[in-house]
Amino acid sequence: MEAARKLLREVYGYDAFRGLQADVIEAALAERDVLAVLPTGGGKSLCYQIPAILREGVGLVISPLIALMADQVDALKQAGVRAERLDSSMPYEDKLAALDAAANGEMDLIYVSPEGLMGNGLRARLSQMRLSLIAVDEAHCVSQWGHDFRPDYRALGRLRDAFPGVPRMAVTATADPRTRADIREQLQLPDAVELVASFDRPNLVLNAERKDGRGTDRVIQLVKSMKGQPGVIYAGTRDGVEKLAEGLEKAGIPALAYHAGLEASLREERQRRFLLEDGLVMVATVAFGMGVDKPDVRFVIHADPPKSMEAYWQEVGRGGRDGEPAEGWCLYGPSDMRRLVRWAEQSDAVEEVRQVQIRKTRQLFSFLDGMACRRAAVRRYFGEAEASDCGECDNCRRPRDDGYDATRFAQMAVSAVLRTGQRFGRGRIVNHLRGEAKDQMDKDLSNLSTYGVGEALGPAGWRAVIDQLLFDGLLGEDDRDNRPVLYAPEKDTTRSLFQGDITVSLREDPSKVRKRERAKTASADLAAELSENDRALFEALREWRRESARETGVPPYVIFHDKTLLAIASARPHGEEALTAIPGVGAKKAARYAEAVAEVIAASA
Ligand code: ADP
Ligand code: ZN
Repeated sequence: MEAARKLLREVYGYDAFRGLQADVIEAALAERDVLAVLPTGGGKSLCYQIPAILREGVGLVISPLIALMADQVDALKQAGVRAERLDSSMPYEDKLAALDAAANGEMDLIYVSPEGLMGNGLRARLSQMRLSLIAVDEAHCVSQWGHDFRPDYRALGRLRDAFPGVPRMAVTATADPRTRADIREQLQLPDAVELVASFDRPNLVLNAERKDGRGTDRVIQLVKSMKGQPGVIYAGTRDGVEKLAEGLEKAGIPALAYHAGLEASLREERQRRFLLEDGLVMVATVAFGMGVDKPDVRFVIHADPPKSMEAYWQEVGRGGRDGEPAEGWCLYGPSDMRRLVRWAEQSDAVEEVRQVQIRKTRQLFSFLDGMACRRAAVRRYFGEAEASDCGECDNCRRPRDDGYDATRFAQMAVSAVLRTGQRFGRGRIVNHLRGEAKDQMDKDLSNLSTYGVGEALGPAGWRAVIDQLLFDGLLGEDDRDNRPVLYAPEKDTTRSLFQGDITVSLREDPSKVRKRERAKTASADLAAELSENDRALFEALREWRRESARETGVPPYVIFHDKTLLAIASARPHGEEALTAIPGVGAKKAARYAEAVAEVIAASA
């Protein structure tokens, strides 16, 4: 472990291991198989890189995405580690050269995709050399109980027989207990040491709010409050992505659209720009993200909700990987719930898996619409018994009261839906309740007893009541001729509602919903603590970093993280040795950049 710590200092520039890193590395160095679950940003890659470098032979890393590998290999090379990635786009000679180097003991790490490993003789070639370790990244992909099953991962169970005696490590950020058991089984890791970190991410401030029908405007408002910092916005459809990106551009916010319908080359270029340029907003479907290790993403907005808690945690977890504050905002509505439940119901997975998906969807929405501390709720979901409230999320900040008893309004709304024949959407139901006849159809319904009974409540208030009824299952929403139509799904529960046996409570008085101010972002401003002079230096350092990143063709954070630049700006280190003392600066980087950094400091003095 002494050697591991030395490597951590000299190559990566960090003083101490984080969380379970030391335990994982120690187990791997003792030639144990390991199953490690570390939260996104928890530093999983070091866990296999360090033992691979320290042990004799070449480390084999299997990872599902080329982008992820490219990023890691770039960063490793910058730090002076001998690493290569083998993929189909690589010229044959380069591949041979990399493998020769590995066979001669001149390579620390080789990255391959699962398909790459199982095909074309590579496995045979690798089995002739000494392997220090085999790491399977994103190991949850092997399990049907996970949320991102990839059939080609199944073949990785054969690694045990193909490379007998080589210690193996499965790592992932998201795996509930059942998924973990399945990973062991599928990857044939019966004796693996299981190390599961806390799912706490203290630097993530989570928020969720119901969609208020203003769609894009709310997203733009949130992004504006983030003051030009880099962020990711997830939308549910390609169309939604395009519209949002357009809306942001119109509002003067530099945004890139990304989804699977775009040419691969365009996607690659945009991903690259997002990594290389400062302050861009990426608007994307979930096609974007796995394997994008940009550490300084300051916010993640779900313009549409994710598919499950696992997906949520993984997606929102892409914020703040550098450990600095980042915010998550998730917008959701009852129609999203309906869409996702239906999607799960109609999936062609086997019955058991389909039931798991439906349950996961319901769990997600009770989390989103629930009143519990967000971070604590996520941790409990992943099996942590003792998770305390974060004190920072929207639910922790919201003044606690018992909610507002809206049973009377709920009865009015459900009667209106029944009286009008369960054939209309909420717009017409709200008009009807408020006694506003806007067209002939409204007028035709105006002789019903429910017409105008809800005059006292504004349209926004009524929408809040109807949303609550949808979440509580007292109303349903169905698509008819592509229009959502409200109905009362169960006679028994409807009767109980009218008899007062069921109460409906809202978070707030629906008559005040209209005047409500939207929750504000905390907008993490990293440089807020710096003095004016130091702040100017920080900006100058970023400018220098941008330039040198462009020259060398790597993302800025591969040179130094924001946090490192902040530390340099306030400590103003003189010379190589002083620079090495800054967190995030290894010996190689200190040697390479000491002079340039000194110049920037001198110029801004
Ligand atoms: P993930 O677990 O999400 O794959 P990474 O391995 O990409 O996380 O690490 C996330 C970030 O944390 C990286 O920028 C990495 O350099 C940094 N990091 C990893 N280990 C440490 C450590 N012991 N101390 C400080 N920073 C670390
Ligand atoms: Zn909280």
